[in-house]
Amino acid sequence: MSAAKKTAGGATVMGVAISHPDKEFWPGISKLDLARYFEAVGDWIMPHIEGRPCSIVRAPDGVAGERFFQRHAMAGSSKLLSVVKVSGDRKPYLQIDHVEGLAAVAQSGGIELHPWNCAPGKPDMPGRFVFDLDPAPDVAFDLVVRGALEVRDRLKTLGLVSFCKTTGGKGLHVVAPFSAGRIGWKDAKAFARIVCEQMAADSPKLYLTTMAKKDRGGRIFLDYLRNDRMATAVAPLSPRVRDGAPVSMPLTWAQVKKGLDPKKFSVRTVPALLRKSAAWKGYDDAGRPLAAAIKRLS
Ligand code: ATP
Ligand code: MN
Repeated sequence: MSAAKKTAGGATVMGVAISHPDKEFWPGISKLDLARYFEAVGDWIMPHIEGRPCSIVRAPDGVAGERFFQRHAMAGSSKLLSVVKVSGDRKPYLQIDHVEGLAAVAQSGGIELHPWNCAPGKPDMPGRFVFDLDPAPDVAFDLVVRGALEVRDRLKTLGLVSFCKTTGGKGLHVVAPFSAGRIGWKDAKAFARIVCEQMAADSPKLYLTTMAKKDRGGRIFLDYLRNDRMATAVAPLSPRVRDGAPVSMPLTWAQVKKGLDPKKFSVRTVPALLRKSAAWKGYDDAGRPLAAAIKRLS
């Protein structure tokens, strides 16, 4: 069979021709597998990334090679990807507004998706919080689980609904959508900082909120800095350029319990697990007014 025929037959995903489909991005997982993964979970991902600038971690040689954190649209980017102008940067940002764009991302060696946390279509308006729990290397994962539950409970007391996901890495993310109204990132970020600081003040042996990694010893860094206009966090269901092809897996709160093993969620396992999962059900209607939450905090 000619190379062209092969492409037409086997290596087209969502209408995008995948070159070098057999190239391994992780041991045993090819570029074509990645594109098909995006096809399998794409409809679930899209509401969480569309309308927002989205950085891409590209690793054209997969987990074994170099990686590039790409914020800006490049000349020659696929027509399936959008470009957006944002204030404060002359260069346009990349945005994925169509599910087929995910195949274009895979085709270009893009593996991780890191959207802004703005409201869709409104790059200046805050849209959700991401509380990033970053454990020091010696922290048992069950303690990270406990931390995520405490963040959830604190947000609930303040009137916000939250959702949890693995990161595909060492920690957990607690995501809370809200409606900002007239509130900007300055006040939204201050809210996130105060929630984290209160939690650290109540359990100083478990948590800290300053970056100084050298004295993180045995504790979980509550990183509120994801909550700013141009800050990003990895998207739910994004694969990671890390060993084992892990995925940032959306969870039900019932799954966030002792014994949770984030390594179970990989490019290989997630499509089937997601079909059976009720994770993040109700997300679309979960956003509460941020103004009311800020009022409760003070
Ligand atoms: P883990 O659970 O292992 O901490 P994580 O996704 O939370 O996984 P972090 O290192 O805590 O990883 O956070 C990095 C975040 O910073 C990413 O989510 C990403 O969106 C953002 N980020 C901003 N700039 C970069 C960059 N140049 N390279 C990688 N990440 C970046
Ligand atoms: Mn983290």
